[in-house]
Amino acid sequence: MNVHDSEYMATLLEEAGYREASTLKKADVILLNTCAVRQKAEEKVYSLLGRLKFLKKKRPDIIIGVGGCVAQKEGERILKRMPHVDLVFGTHQFYHVAEFIEKVRQNRARICCVDFSYQLEPPRRIIPLPRESKVRAYVTIMQGCNNFCTYCIVPYVRGREVSRRSEDIIEEIKRLLDMGIKEVILLGQNVNSYGQDRSDEISFAELLRRINKLPGLKRLRFITSHPKDISKELIRAFGELETLCEYIHLPVQSGSDRILKMMNRKYTRSDYLRKIESLRKVRPDIAISTDLIVGFPGETEADFKETLSILKEVEYDTIFAFKYSDRPPAKAVTFKDKVREEVKKERLERVLALQAPITERKNKALEGKVVEVLLDTYSKRGNQLSGRTRCHRVVNVAAENGLLGQLVKVKIKEALAHSLRGEVVS
Ligand code: SAH
Ligand code: SF4
Repeated sequence: MNVHDSEYMATLLEEAGYREASTLKKADVILLNTCAVRQKAEEKVYSLLGRLKFLKKKRPDIIIGVGGCVAQKEGERILKRMPHVDLVFGTHQFYHVAEFIEKVRQNRARICCVDFSYQLEPPRRIIPLPRESKVRAYVTIMQGCNNFCTYCIVPYVRGREVSRRSEDIIEEIKRLLDMGIKEVILLGQNVNSYGQDRSDEISFAELLRRINKLPGLKRLRFITSHPKDISKELIRAFGELETLCEYIHLPVQSGSDRILKMMNRKYTRSDYLRKIESLRKVRPDIAISTDLIVGFPGETEADFKETLSILKEVEYDTIFAFKYSDRPPAKAVTFKDKVREEVKKERLERVLALQAPITERKNKALEGKVVEVLLDTYSKRGNQLSGRTRCHRVVNVAAENGLLGQLVKVKIKEALAHSLRGEVVS
């Protein structure tokens, strides 16, 4: 979502006449869009801001701004702590970024605006353009979160759930398809509760159905869905909608019922497993990824073993595992029995060691198979094009003129640790 918010700001700034600088040193305006979800992300913001001090000393006329979740969380504190920062703007304020910069420039004033405005459309309607890909685009369908998982800062920095109007979402997607976009990724903190905050809206599954019908769309994905809200209607959609890719990110967070309860996740281990089973019944080839936290306050070795066992039971295609960190004002900050850093580190290593061979085995199983890949970027290694399968796996192929942006059939030659290597067959 942060990546997409940055695309939004970049589009707005280009409309206002700004151009992307080739290097940091050449920029007249430097904006940091920030993530506050874990402590480490926030530390990185302060460390980068610290380094920018020298640039500002050399060129006092440059404007340095901080937006996004850390800006929302810290507000004026950033201006106090970092005298070289000119502008702080919160998660609901990024539509006004160009006006803020102009005000700083004209008045040489320092600005902090972190009000929640719950305005989901910018004053003048624009289509935030994708920057990394010409064929894949993100579309925000809702802002905020009402779930208050006890470890999580998101509801505090992004506010309550607000859904966009389905007509606006569909209109935006139609315009993206007209520009040649083939894959759309719907964004929200909890997309399953789409529409529930308004009386005039359709359900998330119905939204998917309507988007699926749009001419030109090849692939549809969404992120993230909360396991407690996966409806039967949504599960059915995986079996019915041809553009809906057979991939779901379904964060489990912990395998222990005791910890899930303390996390306020509102599902049990067996509820979660039942949903996975229903998804696999409808789409046996569905790829599943997850997020999990190790070292939540009070997590015992026995609780942790439950997390290991759910990984074995589900056999995820990929996992994103994190060490718990306190995120005030989230509630778990006040919970007793904090887990020591060394224990968190060791548990994280054990989780990753358990998952690695599972991911590897799943990747190896694809060797020799022909899969559909949407080639949309140049690979980091150069001379190669990179894309994803419908199951969201990264595939690299030898670069050939004209293939960028194409949906091709690729024969998988080799499974590597984090990607697949293949050959275009048609
Ligand atoms: N809305 C999404 C994701 C939110 S944040 C969801 O509900 O799934 C992304 C991930 O960061 C979470 O799934 C969680 O695993 C992790 N996370 C959030 N707060 C954390 C914290 N305090 N410490 C460690 N990991 C955290
Ligand atoms: Fe955070 Fe939970 Fe909301 Fe996800 S559902 S954003 S983890 S509070």
